[in-house]
Amino acid sequence: MSANTDTILDVASLKKYFPVRRGLLLRHVADVKAVDDVSFSVRKGETLGLVGESGCGKSTLGRTIVRLYDPTDGSIHFKGENLDALDRSDLRELRKDFQMIFQDPYSSLNPRMTVASIVQEPLDIHNVGTAAERKEWVRELFTKVGLKPETMNRYPHEFSGGQRQRISIARAIALKPALIVADEPVSALDVSIQAQILNLLRNLQKEMGITYVFISHDLSVIEHFCDEVAVMYLGKIVEIAPREELFANPKHPYTQALIRAIPVPGDGKKTNRETLEGEVPSPINPPSGCPFHPRCPVKIEDCSQRVPALLPLNNTTNHQVSCHLYSN
Ligand code: SF4
Repeated sequence: MSANTDTILDVASLKKYFPVRRGLLLRHVADVKAVDDVSFSVRKGETLGLVGESGCGKSTLGRTIVRLYDPTDGSIHFKGENLDALDRSDLRELRKDFQMIFQDPYSSLNPRMTVASIVQEPLDIHNVGTAAERKEWVRELFTKVGLKPETMNRYPHEFSGGQRQRISIARAIALKPALIVADEPVSALDVSIQAQILNLLRNLQKEMGITYVFISHDLSVIEHFCDEVAVMYLGKIVEIAPREELFANPKHPYTQALIRAIPVPGDGKKTNRETLEGEVPSPINPPSGCPFHPRCPVKIEDCSQRVPALLPLNNTTNHQVSCHLYSN
């Protein structure tokens, strides 16, 4: 997807490899190709969903975008700035503008700090405002995320899972970021609480103009929350399209299988209509040709020989797919 003036995040040919070392001398013998040549862009105030099975590289991609990991190759432009070209102090300044929310709020909140101190910490680190102004903004943040300011001096263990995720969100928005990478932010929560947290994130997006990169293995959550959806498999984007287009007209056999496997209500229970067979292969030794070919029900001879490129379906949509069935 090409970048335009509304683009806030532009990722090009991004790679994140982790070296595998063996032996006494810890020789570099291979790489885990967690993110392998990924390109996409996100428009301001919108939400890009990254979806795929566990091990597809979506969390590594999220962490690389916010520079918790340094990329192996490729570029990340945020607000037009190439993050790689910035020196440490400029990068530190820009970091205020991108934040991350994690799946497990308990492990990301320091148990020895009061929740007020946790939410205020980013303001202290970046020396924002006076002490009184910071305290006042923290009170406002608690109200914004639906928590009572009277609870500010309690500790994380005194809150429920949903409330702890609200605290994480308050901390993430404290510096009024332009971009939040949310990594499975509702996966650890009950379904009823999930809806409340998603509504909160959506309201904050409207109010503060936040852009989200929203990572989830759950397509039904992605369908309700995202404007654009990128499907990942073995470190690569295999299909990317506006949400309605992707769900109405999925093209890649992997996307089709994921959509068929969305749980549907049946006899009061949730049942899987169809599950995808086999497991995601190792990213240390990915299959030749199309990485999905060992599991693909419609593969053709070419599939194990040639890697399909991610190409637009036609000139009239933003729908791109990486599959030999559509390359002509
Ligand atoms: Fe299946 Fe071949 Fe398409 Fe890969 S390129 S998804 S193996 S048909």
